[in-house]
Amino acid sequence: MVIQLKNKSIWSDFKKTKNYPKLDNDITTDVLIIGGGITGLSVAYHLANSNLKVCLVEKNKLGQAVTSKTTGKLTYLQENIYSKLNVFHNIDTSKLYLESQVDAINLVKEIVEKEKINCDLEKVQSYVFTNDENYSLDKEKEILKQLNIKFKETNVLPNKDKVKDAFYVEDTYVFHPLKYIYSLAEVCQKKKIAIYENTKIVSIEKEDNCHICETPSNIIKAKYVVLALHYPYFLSPFWMPLKSYIEKSYIEAFEADKNYVFSSINTYQPSISTRYHSDNNKNYQIYLTNSHNLCVKNNEKENFKNLRKAKNANPDYLWSNMDIMTADFLPFIGSLKNDKTLFLATGYNTWGMTNGSLAGKIISDLILRIPNKYTKLFNPNRKINFGKVVNFPVILTSNAYSFLKSKISKQKPWYSPNVKFENRNGKEIAIYIDENKKEHIVYNICPHLKCSLIFNEVEKTWDCPCHGSRFDIDGNSIEGPSNYNITYKE
Ligand SMILES: Cc1cc2nc3c(=O)[nH]c(=O)nc-3n(C[C@H](O)[C@H](O)[C@H](O)COP(=O)(O)OP(=O)(O)OC[C@H]3O[C@@H](n4cnc5c(N)ncnc54)[C@H](O)[C@@H]3O)c2cc1C
Repeated sequence: MVIQLKNKSIWSDFKKTKNYPKLDNDITTDVLIIGGGITGLSVAYHLANSNLKVCLVEKNKLGQAVTSKTTGKLTYLQENIYSKLNVFHNIDTSKLYLESQVDAINLVKEIVEKEKINCDLEKVQSYVFTNDENYSLDKEKEILKQLNIKFKETNVLPNKDKVKDAFYVEDTYVFHPLKYIYSLAEVCQKKKIAIYENTKIVSIEKEDNCHICETPSNIIKAKYVVLALHYPYFLSPFWMPLKSYIEKSYIEAFEADKNYVFSSINTYQPSISTRYHSDNNKNYQIYLTNSHNLCVKNNEKENFKNLRKAKNANPDYLWSNMDIMTADFLPFIGSLKNDKTLFLATGYNTWGMTNGSLAGKIISDLILRIPNKYTKLFNPNRKINFGKVVNFPVILTSNAYSFLKSKISKQKPWYSPNVKFENRNGKEIAIYIDENKKEHIVYNICPHLKCSLIFNEVEKTWDCPCHGSRFDIDGNSIEGPSNYNITYKE
């Protein structure tokens, strides 16, 4: 099957009008925010009216990583999260998490209104459904009743899709994530926040009361550092791989008969999540499915084929995305290792439009010493009860399994003859021959933790099967924890 599509997200057609410079001198700042996705820009926004000198650096262009590939829902109905939190923690945790998500939605609404941001923010109904005869929504409904959430029940979605069971609420939203964060960046810049693109931080050391953060050519000295970089590369010994795993999903956008005002998500495998979007010329349904632990399914041809099989439509856009799933279903937002000057925000369990927005407020409150009722809930240093983590053995072994698998068989049976592997001068290299017969050569080792890479022939990227780093065909790092390229030099 030949797939010829726009292999990019529906949001990425929207181009920002402003570019930001690359840092070319040493600077000193009060706060350094590393990462220009929804998290980093939300932190910057909430610090913009403080007296602190704030600087945000992004290793590529703003918003091009996970934030550009989301489905863009702002909802507090998140599959069966409240019953999961109730079992893992308790009902108070479910309650507080619910409040946090409602607050996050209100936060975005207030910002959009105050800053007059045009980001297609639209109020929609939000559905949770099941089609699985063996799966009941009753537990989630029961908890929602205890939490005083007024939902309605149905077995037909507004687009007339029939489902076994569903419930929905009215007060949730969808938006265009890139229009939102690009506007945040402009507001921040007007308020004197320094924003640098194409500026990556490669090391952070603490000296006296200051963090020394290095780019390949400059130094930034900062009193506070915020790691808003999705996969926190700089975190030893936070033991991130033991507390989380990476989930990958596949998404398509195809023409719809109308812009239905609802979003939906199911609660069983294969995962299905949908919403609609109109770009004024055309209505689209955005359809996500086939979510899996990154480490277990590496055949991207097969993974994308399953997505297309699932909907059997002719998509205009096709892409994949990854998010960090935590062992106890709660994000990590707050200060690290009780260092009140180093902050982290990640592990959003695929709900980073709300949690990333909220992280902006929580971290800015921590820096400004303003009490915030969610700091304890999301504290990254909290103890996780590993005895209760249902898939803990999988989390524990999946990275190691993936590492070993990547070393044993580099030449996958599903590759076309255009993908080759060689050993040159003692170095493992990989070659992709494009449609013009041009060879693109890269080193075949992920600079992060040395896994061998897998070629994704659908999106034309070299992907790390262990922790999600991705590189383009010429070896430039485009996503994930690797801070270095894999460009081959003779
Ligand atoms: C398939 C899928 C669908 C989703 N749909 C939804 C949804 O509908 N609603 C919802 O709430 N959430 C959703 N999410 C989750 C959400 O998209 C993410 O949680 C969120 O975008 C993460 O934002 P971020 O800013 O933390 O990360 P990113 O957007 O990845 O931003 C991090 C930035 O840091 C930069 N960076 C990394 N390292 C460095 C460095 N060393 N120096 C400088 N910069 C660096 C990166 O280049 C990147 O731009 C979805 C996730 C997935 C996988």
